[in-house]
Amino acid sequence: MTKTDLWINVLKTIQPSIPKAPFITWFQNTDIILSEGAKIVIGVPTQFTKDWLVNRYNGYIADALKELAPEVTVVEYEVSSRLLQKDGGGIDVNTLFLDDNKKVRKVRKLNEVRLVRGERHRGEVIVSKMFNDKYKLDNFVVGRDNRLPHAAAMAVSGQPGGIYNPLYIYGDVGLGKTHLLQGIGNSILAQHSDLVIKYITAEKFVNEVVQAIGKKTMNQFKDQYRNVDVFLVDDIQFFARKNSSQQEFFHTFNELYEQNKQIVLTSDRPPSELDDLDDRLKSRFGMGMVVELLFPDYETRLAILQNKCQDFNILIDPEVLSFIANNVHNNVRELEGVLRQAVAESQLSNRVPTIRSVAEIIQRMNKAQAIIGYDIVEKGKMHMAKTCDDVMKLVADFYGVTMEDLVGKNRQREYLMPRQICMYLIKNELGQSYEKIGNSFGGRKHTTVINACTKTERLLRNDLRLVRDINAIKRDMGL
Ligand code: ADP
Ligand code: MG
Repeated sequence: MTKTDLWINVLKTIQPSIPKAPFITWFQNTDIILSEGAKIVIGVPTQFTKDWLVNRYNGYIADALKELAPEVTVVEYEVSSRLLQKDGGGIDVNTLFLDDNKKVRKVRKLNEVRLVRGERHRGEVIVSKMFNDKYKLDNFVVGRDNRLPHAAAMAVSGQPGGIYNPLYIYGDVGLGKTHLLQGIGNSILAQHSDLVIKYITAEKFVNEVVQAIGKKTMNQFKDQYRNVDVFLVDDIQFFARKNSSQQEFFHTFNELYEQNKQIVLTSDRPPSELDDLDDRLKSRFGMGMVVELLFPDYETRLAILQNKCQDFNILIDPEVLSFIANNVHNNVRELEGVLRQAVAESQLSNRVPTIRSVAEIIQRMNKAQAIIGYDIVEKGKMHMAKTCDDVMKLVADFYGVTMEDLVGKNRQREYLMPRQICMYLIKNELGQSYEKIGNSFGGRKHTTVINACTKTERLLRNDLRLVRDINAIKRDMGL
């Protein structure tokens, strides 16, 4: 038995115990690349595949080997980028499934013939208006629950038309499908400006088909797709029950697939659950790599918020960010939405976001939601700071200075800073006039108070320590 035959037998042995989609994902284009006495080395296309095989499937492989080649006692894995290519020598696991066998083989055959491309239009980029360059693969925050879709997107953009074709990304609304899809487009565009990239939502595709049928311009419609190298289709669940559009999509899909063009699809559910969709389409969709996007874990949510703060160019107390990350449970879009509103409110009213203010935003957006960690704020409300004197006492206490020092004339930093912060808080939170505040601080001029407020506002833009201090004081104030 050659080493490749041994590997095919191993794959056939373990295939029934692993669902089809992960099986294809993890075993596609693998092979035994070395067999030496008791040792074999399994070649895999990426580090990522290696990690998964070692961590998840090593047991299956070892069991199969025990049966098929008991002399093997050492199994190693090695990444070989040659295996990333379709004809790089790895096993096409699609051929191992009995029912789909013939169909898939035929398609692969066609690929080989069609590889010699005719003359084509180069340098033409079909960039739909919906193609947004803020969606990049490198500003997609990667955490435990979205590592695989991101890795697949990276692999596809590094090697369009390689083994992950089609790439099928699914997950609930607002979890980053469009971001990844367009990120792939942007990344390929940056690396291969000569490739023709087409991004379209299934909804738009359906509308275009309907129009083309109405206006009898079907040939023109088809022409659009002839030169496409990378075909990105968003929200394909929209094809359900749109029969003539499905047919048209099926043709486009096949034609591009047969020419080794990269296809990436997104949907809110896995291929098998696309009810009201032609079975042929479903099986084609599942032929490459199928990955699920999940709601990111707490750490990833926090990292996403921190990234967005950088985009918005604003500093927010980490405690407030952590509060948002803890309290948004639906999707990343909502996470962003809460942050966006908090930023807008703070810019309008010149106040830094606090736990209380973001709690209100979250409750407005999601009435039924129970808020975690809000009790501290609620308790604080019971002794809310209402007067100038209340605030002065809290600030003096916080910075460990006496009331006399706070209103006194000493301009040393340890007194000046609390004094200015105190003026800022009284102005912004109690809304007192500059004159009145000046009087409370030993009869200072109103311009002094204005200066203190503008200086504090300016510092709040890039001094995280100050942002935290002010939030802590505001919490003591019951805000
Ligand atoms: P979907 O298409 O799945 O409904 P989107 O791709 O529109 O979701 O994502 C919603 C918003 O969340 C977008 O603004 C996107 O940039 C952001 N987003 C989602 N996941 C991430 C992530 N991991 N890192 C950064 N931003 C993310
Ligand atoms: Mg989307």
